[in-house]
Amino acid sequence: MNSEPRASTSAQGIHVVAKPMGPMCNLACEYCFYIEKKALFGEGENFRMSDDVLTSFVKDYIASQPTPVVEFVWQGGEPTLMGLDFFKKVVHGQKPFARKHRLLIIIIAKVGQGNLKITCQLLRSGMQ
Ligand code: SF4
Repeated sequence: MNSEPRASTSAQGIHVVAKPMGPMCNLACEYCFYIEKKALFGEGENFRMSDDVLTSFVKDYIASQPTPVVEFVWQGGEPTLMGLDFFKKVVHGQKPFARKHRLLIIIIAKVGQGNLKITCQLLRSGMQ
């Protein structure tokens, strides 16, 4: 019996968790591992992912994935602090790269408060 590990025959991608609002959050959980990272940035930092970075990230991330499903996970801080327009830009940026049999999924890891309205608008609009 061969004890060599078998190479996987299915393509595997990488999984990136993007933080478009950096460590900004509207909660202050005692156990938070990330909110303290604000201290690593200089004064005047707005923590928001720029449109240029968003465009490059979407394009390069999709191009780097050999899998039929590409998951975009937005975390924070609180990602919905970016606002509805940001997530519309995400969808708009993904559309040229969506192909038949290729599913692009957006997951918003939302735990903060005050932006439930944005989350509901995203869901209701079907991310159009
Ligand atoms: S909701 Fe999440 S990001 Fe915000 S303070 Fe709590 S653990 Fe940190």
